[in-house]
Amino acid sequence: MVWSYFFRKPGGKFLFYSIIVLVFGLLTAFLIGNSNDDKKSGKKGEVIKANPQQKEGWWKSDAKEMVRKQIESRGIKDERVLEVMENTPRHKFVPGRYSKSAYDDSPLPIGEGQTISQPYIVALMTTSLDIQGSEKVLEIGTGSGYQAAILAQLVKEVYTIEVIEELANMAEGRLKKMGYDNVHVKWGDGYQGWPEHAPFDRIIVTAAPEKIPQALVEQLKPGGKMVLPVGDTFQLLKVVSKTADGKIKKNTITGVRFVPMIHPDDPIPPDDE
Ligand code: SAH
Repeated sequence: MVWSYFFRKPGGKFLFYSIIVLVFGLLTAFLIGNSNDDKKSGKKGEVIKANPQQKEGWWKSDAKEMVRKQIESRGIKDERVLEVMENTPRHKFVPGRYSKSAYDDSPLPIGEGQTISQPYIVALMTTSLDIQGSEKVLEIGTGSGYQAAILAQLVKEVYTIEVIEELANMAEGRLKKMGYDNVHVKWGDGYQGWPEHAPFDRIIVTAAPEKIPQALVEQLKPGGKMVLPVGDTFQLLKVVSKTADGKIKKNTITGVRFVPMIHPDDPIPPDDE
């Protein structure tokens, strides 16, 4: 027997037990390493599938962390905006394969070559609108519908226009299914606004025109505010305010990078998905 060979030699017993301990040690280390790998590689999806009770709320801690680390820490204090962003399932607005990245500090592709904005930018633009609660808001660039869903929880009515038909349809279905009944989606060119429902208390533009669209300024109520990115490759986020007597004031908030606003005659950019 192998062990009798060890036991016959001087010090062999010690060597035999040392080998046993070493083998057990290596086996344990291997097993622990493997289970940690599962956690590290964030196989959240698989764990969730195996445990349906975890499914519903998995994103809540991600959303909470998103609000604390990306938004509050950068100086946004509007409690209502923070609360709504913490309680809105952003992963439902991105393609399934990006679910786990939905609460990351970055924009994400939503199809048709378009993107959902970085959470901080959504918070910054929403806060800049200085919302009280009873407003009628126009959004240009529905995209995924996420910004519209955030606004829907803060104002009375949201009118939102999307120029790409597939995105408009998808967002409309998604918002309806999620119960945001005060959002009205239209497929069309937002450069001209939505005259049938004008004037608006607030306007938010989430694609960058080269200059401020005059039709949108005209559709803003006196006392109203519009937030929009303006420019070509170099863009500035601006707030346009209309005073009670109709005067226009412009403020620049910061530099930003949005997808360009598509003009009616331009070809639709290719899908890079
Ligand atoms: N607010 C969106 C993100 C918008 S991305 C969200 O929360 O997901 C910008 C969107 O503006 C794109 O979907 C793009 O198709 C749309 N867009 C570009 N030009 C437009 C125009 N002239 N009228 C309406 N929508 C436009």
